[in-house]
Amino acid sequence: MTTAVAAPFRFFSLQVVRTLRIGPSLVRVTFAGQDLRYFFSGGRDQSLSLFLPHPGQDAPAVPFELGDGWWQGWRELPDGVRAVMRSYTLRTLRRDPDEIDIDFVLHTPAGPASAWAAGAAAGDRVVLLGPAVADNRAIRFRPPAGTDLVVLWGDESALPAIASILESLPAGQRVRVWLETHEVGNVRELVTAADAEVTWVVGESSVDVLREARLPAAEQPYVWIAGESGCVKALRRHFVGERGIDRRRITFVGYWRRGMSEEQLREAE
Ligand SMILES: Cc1cc2nc3c(=O)[nH]c(=O)nc-3n(C[C@H](O)[C@H](O)[C@H](O)COP(=O)(O)OP(=O)(O)OC[C@H]3O[C@@H](n4cnc5c(N)ncnc54)[C@H](O)[C@@H]3O)c2cc1C
Repeated sequence: MTTAVAAPFRFFSLQVVRTLRIGPSLVRVTFAGQDLRYFFSGGRDQSLSLFLPHPGQDAPAVPFELGDGWWQGWRELPDGVRAVMRSYTLRTLRRDPDEIDIDFVLHTPAGPASAWAAGAAAGDRVVLLGPAVADNRAIRFRPPAGTDLVVLWGDESALPAIASILESLPAGQRVRVWLETHEVGNVRELVTAADAEVTWVVGESSVDVLREARLPAAEQPYVWIAGESGCVKALRRHFVGERGIDRRRITFVGYWRRGMSEEQLREAE
């Protein structure tokens, strides 16, 4: 499959190789496929569009053979046939053999993607719309040159992005991280060369915790916030309004919204 969509993105036909439960509400799914030799990514918070089959289908229905017309064709497929489309983050890309990992939150109420991940098994087929060029606009973590403090906030859905961002940061870079989780078993060591301080907030609102937190003095801070969109909005207001951070130095992305599926969220936006 070589259909170009909107370069630098293209479709990849993949199969599950294995799954690994990495926390009480987190499962890592490893995918492989010949197409992955055309997959290139600069990592960090690289986002992907994942197309999943409905229960009973052996492959997701995505008319990628329509080229640029795939979106219209996909929208016109009947409900229950049209593949479920969800946004996820590339956790790891490996070569020899070509494999990628995606970490899924298993949440309640479960949506189609969370339910699919909970039951994923070797051989299951998915389609991915992902990058064919390492530097692409689905990487949003972009601290301006001269940044002297990176602040990261995320919930479990943003843990894969934060883990990858931390792995990418150089020694000497000051970083303060807040991670919210409902389950103490999801807490893990994060690997980084940076001068990072990571605070896990278990079972309470990290928005309140962050409001009270002391941040080191910085001339040029950069803030990255992702997770439940109500929390993301509240935190952005806090950083701009109460901490006086220039809004151009804040990247914020609503990854999901309480009480809404991703389709409903897309329509609302
Ligand atoms: C750029 C981007 C990157 C993302 N990366 C990841 C990632 O790497 N890993 C990951 O797990 N998620 C990630 N997400 C979030 C993921 O797309 C959503 O959680 C998505 O809604 C899951 O689809 P679903 O079918 O399971 O649930 P949906 O059908 O979309 O929603 C069903 C119900 O579940 C609730 N819900 C959805 N997500 C969560 C959640 N995380 N916790 C609690 N309740 C939830 C909804 O509010 C709704 O009530 C990312 C989102 C974006 C925009």
